Amino acid sequence: MLTVRGLILKEKNIGEISKSVSVITAERGVIDIFIRGGQKSVKNAASTQLFTYSKLCIDEKRTASGQTEYYLNSSELLSSFPNIRLDIKKTALAAYFSELILYTRTEEAGYHDVMRLILNSLYFLDNDKMKMDLLKCVFEFRLPCEIGLRPDLVGCAVCYKYKDDKMHFDFRDNKLYCDECYMTDENSIQAVMDKTLLYTVRFIALSEFEKLFYFRLSERYLRKLTEFTESFIAFNFKSRFRTLEYYKSI
Ligand SMILES: [Zn+2]
Repeated sequence: MLTVRGLILKEKNIGEISKSVSVITAERGVIDIFIRGGQKSVKNAASTQLFTYSKLCIDEKRTASGQTEYYLNSSELLSSFPNIRLDIKKTALAAYFSELILYTRTEEAGYHDVMRLILNSLYFLDNDKMKMDLLKCVFEFRLPCEIGLRPDLVGCAVCYKYKDDKMHFDFRDNKLYCDECYMTDENSIQAVMDKTLLYTVRFIALSEFEKLFYFRLSERYLRKLTEFTESFIAFNFKSRFRTLEYYKSI
């Protein structure tokens, strides 16, 4: 028997009465847990519904092909983020966060920071502690940073200049350039960054979790930041996220 703390990212019905849940855990990364009778039973209902954070006791079984399967034995609710479920826009944003994590899923240890990121994001979403569109930007850029895609933002990739009135982030090679060193061509796909935007992007990539959610941005810069973080996701993940389209349609 194994005990993990996990956040439910997705529920799927299996047959008439059972279900499986995709869960992010610090200990095992993202895993699927099968819950016998999970559609009907009230025993684990509250602690295995979408966007709940729970203590899960699970049995591990090895299949003939060497895969590990997980079966729920018992569970205990730790946090339910109740306000997210009551608000359609919050639900849509949480679903987008889940879809991004599931897209990048790996079953491995060392998921502590992604776990912290999603739990913090849901806490801030649940309690209206950050503007939703800004929270979305923070998550969109910090998630890839936590899974090995953090770009080098220290300075210009050619001359190492730390800042300039105008810098360029090129999405094709994920590098930062100063205005003098940047060579544009007709295929360039770039974000032009002034000092404020660059400062904000660096802050999201590098600041400690304790500080990450404590900043504000004007509407004008929020639009620029959104363009940057959505482009970063689009170029690095190369996938369309239906939950993002839905969130933006509300
Ligand atoms: Zn340069």
